[in-house]
Amino acid sequence: MPISDQQLICNLQSVQEQIKTCQKECQSTQVVDLLAVSKTHPSAAVRALYHAGQRAFGENYLQEALPKIQELKDLPELSWHFIGQIQSNKTAQIAAHFDWVQSVSRLKIAKRLSAQRPRDLPPLNILLQVDVDNSSIGSKAGVLLEDAAATAKACSQLEHIRLRGLMCIPDLTDDFASQRATFAKLTALFNTLNAAGMALDTLSMGMSADMRAAISAGSTMVRVGTAIFGARQ
Ligand SMILES: *Cc1c(COP(=O)(O)O)cnc(C)c1O
Repeated sequence: MPISDQQLICNLQSVQEQIKTCQKECQSTQVVDLLAVSKTHPSAAVRALYHAGQRAFGENYLQEALPKIQELKDLPELSWHFIGQIQSNKTAQIAAHFDWVQSVSRLKIAKRLSAQRPRDLPPLNILLQVDVDNSSIGSKAGVLLEDAAATAKACSQLEHIRLRGLMCIPDLTDDFASQRATFAKLTALFNTLNAAGMALDTLSMGMSADMRAAISAGSTMVRVGTAIFGARQ
C-alpha cells in the first residue's frame, strides 16, 4: 500500500516540528531548511508534499530522478538536489536537470558540471562534500578535510556553477557528543572559508538520526527521507 497524502503531510509537519524543537533546545539562530529525500518514492508523493509547502527534494540516482523531474515540470518552485555519488559520464544530465548538486567531491566533477551546465539556465548551485571522518578510501565520502579549502577555492572560480557551501555524511554513531564534534569540524571549515571571503550560505548536515547534533553544530539544511516518506523497499 502506498502511503496516503494525508500521512505524508502529517509526517512532514512532524519533521518540521522536530527541527523547530531542536533549534529551540540548542538556541540556534540560523535558518534550517529541510531537504525531503524522495529516492525510491513516486512523483505523486513529491507532488502532495509540494502542495503542502515543501519545495526542495533530493535524489540519489539519475535514472530514477529523470522521469520524476519530467512529471513534475509544472511545479514552478520545486528545486531538485542531486545527493548521490557522481560518475563522470552522468555529469551532463545532472547539470541539465538539477538545481543543486550536494555531492561534489572532486574538482574534476565540478569542472565538468560547470562546462556542461546549459547556458540558458542560472549557474548550478553546488556543495562540496567533505569526508569529515577522514576515513574513507578514494573520494566516495567526499574530499578530505585537509584538501577541502583548496578544492573549494578552485570550485568557486568556475563560471557556470556557484559554490554555496559544504555537505557531509559522517559515519553512523549514536553518541551525541561525537556526532556534534564531527559536525563541528565542517562548521569550522565553513567559517574559515567565509572568513577568507567566500560568502557560503549552506551547511548541509544532519539526517533523521543525527539532526539534533547537526543543528546544534550550525547546520542550515537537514536531509530527511524515511521520516517523511516511510521506509524504502
Ligand atoms: C538517503 C539519504 C538521506 C535520507 O536518509 P533517510 O535515512 O531516509 O532519512 C540523506 N542524505 C543522503 C545523502 C542520502 O543518500
